[in-house]
Amino acid sequence: MTSTRTPVLIVGGGLVGLSAAIFLASHGVRSLLVERRTSSSAHPRALGYTARTCELFHTVGMDAAFPQVPKGSGPRRVRAESLAGQWFEEYPWTPATEAAPTVEYSPFIGSATAQDRLEPLLRAKAVELGVEVWLGAELTSFTQHATGVAAVVEGSDRSTSVVSAAYLLAADGHRSPVREALGIARDGIEHLQTMRSVLFCAPLQEYLARGVVQFLIDQPELNAFLTSYGGEGRWALMFHDDVERDEQQLRATINLAIGRDDVAVNILATGRWDISALIADSFASGRVFLAGDAAHTLPPSRGGYGVNTGIADTHNLAWKLAAVLSGASTPALLDTYDQERRPVAWKRLKNIFARPDYAAYARDGFVDTEITDDAAMEFGQLYRSAAVLDADASLPAALRPDQWAGQPGTRAPHLWVQRDDEQISTLDLFGHDWVLLATDEQWRTAATQASTALGIPVSFVGVGTDVLADPEKVCAAYGFSHDGSSLIRPDGHIAWRSTRLPSDAAGTLVHALAHVSSSRRPAAAKGPQV
Ligand SMILES: Cc1cc2nc3c(=O)[nH]c(=O)nc-3n(C[C@H](O)[C@H](O)[C@H](O)COP(=O)(O)OP(=O)(O)OC[C@H]3O[C@@H](n4cnc5c(N)ncnc54)[C@H](O)[C@@H]3O)c2cc1C
Repeated sequence: MTSTRTPVLIVGGGLVGLSAAIFLASHGVRSLLVERRTSSSAHPRALGYTARTCELFHTVGMDAAFPQVPKGSGPRRVRAESLAGQWFEEYPWTPATEAAPTVEYSPFIGSATAQDRLEPLLRAKAVELGVEVWLGAELTSFTQHATGVAAVVEGSDRSTSVVSAAYLLAADGHRSPVREALGIARDGIEHLQTMRSVLFCAPLQEYLARGVVQFLIDQPELNAFLTSYGGEGRWALMFHDDVERDEQQLRATINLAIGRDDVAVNILATGRWDISALIADSFASGRVFLAGDAAHTLPPSRGGYGVNTGIADTHNLAWKLAAVLSGASTPALLDTYDQERRPVAWKRLKNIFARPDYAAYARDGFVDTEITDDAAMEFGQLYRSAAVLDADASLPAALRPDQWAGQPGTRAPHLWVQRDDEQISTLDLFGHDWVLLATDEQWRTAATQASTALGIPVSFVGVGTDVLADPEKVCAAYGFSHDGSSLIRPDGHIAWRSTRLPSDAAGTLVHALAHVSSSRRPAAAKGPQV
């Protein structure tokens, strides 16, 4: 038996666990990741990554892993009799709501990469950043105590290791043994449908020539979802199914979807899985945090909420763990993880059941009265917690960034600005330290003073000095006047905003930052209110 120490033990090396390891490393936090598999599952699963997910991986230099889908097209879908048969209407991911303004909300559009292709890229990046990755290693038990977690990990070679960690992050999937061990219950809808997926390879490129990559197969014998899966002639067929099928039956179903039986089809993998919509009653217990499917399972193919929500969980948690482990913040900051991420998962679940195709499964209280549009879900979900000031309960859960206009608790808006000779997004200014953004230079000294007073790095970005942009546009997007400022957290969310320059800018900022960072050095009791 061996013993190992690590600041953070991550259980599960799927996309969410690997994302956690990368985001922690980007904040200078070492982690050990244990994954019981020795390689990625061949079962076809996630394919679509949202613009927000691409923004998050951009902060860690991983653009190459997320090639962008062509502008304006997105993953196009049609309802069709079959690939070779009649094609009916094209249909969007989310049913149309009121006409959305033509605002560019992000420098990114979205990406389509098969999960089994993306996982090795994330694993390689994690290793490059110094993450210790143990494959074929299963967490079999753990206990918590006042200062940490002690976990037992068994290797495929029957070796046993005791891992001591300050924190444990469970990204161990929807059955989450860690969540079960903690006795955290889930609420939602246990079983919507049992589905079958078949991954196959076939020379069907001719059907992709028109730019459509996904097909809702609609014929009397078959209702199914057929999607190109990661190129190289790979396709995934998914349909409602609760019986065992042999290879001959699978081939017959694939031929129905293709609309031909003269195509050479190579079946690569198949399996059945249940669609559920369940959210854990808590995303944390003591020193253990749940992320990804362990915290929420959301039906796939409706907005890409599954893995994208899980990746954003880990991005939210990473900077908080870094701040607490470094001693800059008290553990109270970690309470804001559940406060911020659980409502996001619930909002997404309710938005799914507001759709006509999911309404039949909805339960009382589990459905939004109207569908929230993609831009609001993607870039405008509001965090309400102790790590945000002035985001009260009366505000809606999600709006588009131009409707929020810099509301604290939302992701900082994207605008193009000039830095040196380069055009960059405002989003490129965030992602590591705290940032104070202002058009008035008087805030520069305030940022330095707040940083010194609390021992927390705060970068000042002056519009007109550090970056060039139309100050009116910046003020309008961020919702402050020419002498106001916005304080942006290391995860790119706005923590606090001063619409005007207060008489004691430094004191006001110190108070605000001390509050939203759960600083170990609280601001002096005397001083201006925020
Ligand atoms: C058919 C299908 C299509 C989908 N399409 C999309 C999509 O397009 N977009 C999207 O956003 N989402 C999609 N999803 C959802 C998405 O696949 C999941 O949300 C995502 O994979 C969850 O990732 P995870 O890392 O949380 O969990 P998992 O991928 O389940 O990973 C958990 C890992 O933990 C490991 N593990 C468990 N217990 C232990 C233990 N004790 N010790 C060590 N390791 C352990 C497991 O082996 C596993 O590798 C789809 C899902 C399905 C089924």
